[in-house]
Amino acid sequence: MMKRFISNYHTHNNYCDGKNTIEEMVIAAIDKGILHLGISSHAAIINQEHWTMHESEMNNYLKEISIIKDRYSKKIVIYSGLEIDYFNGLGLNPLAIPYIEYLDYYIGSVHTLYAHNTGDFCFVDESREVLEQAIDRMFKGNVEYAVRHYYNSIKEMVVKYEPTIIGHIDIIKKNNKGNYFFNEEEKWYKDIIVETLNVINRSNSIIEINTGGIPRYGSDCLYPSTFILEEILKNNMDITVNADSHSVEGIDFYYDEIYTIVKDIGFKRIMTFTHDGWIPYKL
Ligand SMILES: [Zn+2]
Ligand SMILES: [Zn+2]
Repeated sequence: MMKRFISNYHTHNNYCDGKNTIEEMVIAAIDKGILHLGISSHAAIINQEHWTMHESEMNNYLKEISIIKDRYSKKIVIYSGLEIDYFNGLGLNPLAIPYIEYLDYYIGSVHTLYAHNTGDFCFVDESREVLEQAIDRMFKGNVEYAVRHYYNSIKEMVVKYEPTIIGHIDIIKKNNKGNYFFNEEEKWYKDIIVETLNVINRSNSIIEINTGGIPRYGSDCLYPSTFILEEILKNNMDITVNADSHSVEGIDFYYDEIYTIVKDIGFKRIMTFTHDGWIPYKL
């Protein structure tokens, strides 16, 4: 059987909240037959969080990637990246911006409901209680407003910056198990998704399929949901597959399953990132 081309451009390491070193992640990727690997630690943010890098480490991080890139260049192609947060009305994380020119690519992610006028915020992927309190406090309890605000942030980010990859596009659903906040079948939600995809379709950004939520939070946490993948296909848009790996065990988590799922939905290709930009890989 021909060796399948597999890539993973979304990986964390011990510079942020990943468990392993960059080198350990690279060795695990080589063992699993991954041919292209992107290193994408959470960039430092102004009010540092437990999951972000220290600002003082950003240069060391880039140096270390470049050393390891050379050390393993015969076995794997390594790309230097960052996962960079976007804040509504403010822009991409300002601490990360000066580093973008030194990167091969970056993932633009919205983890935050951010109110630019008051500075109030909440991380959507923290606990359900934290999100619920924030929806009450920031959106007078109106879930639809909160969800709209989240997807508006994604749209703004894409229009302003066109990140190479859009991270876990519907992570707002992470705390929505059992339709606690909303039902993805509802028309308003589907309309928001269609509007968001229309904006992305006019950009050069690629949406990732992110399997990283599954080992931690179960199979509902495949990003994006199947109906969004169907909508992406209907719009002739492309996807790339990433595992959002936080440890060596997660380096290709759910990859066998996801390639089958994507093919069953009807995708004929996935995109792989190279030094010459995105190229299609036929499924
Ligand atoms: Zn993320
Ligand atoms: Zn991530």
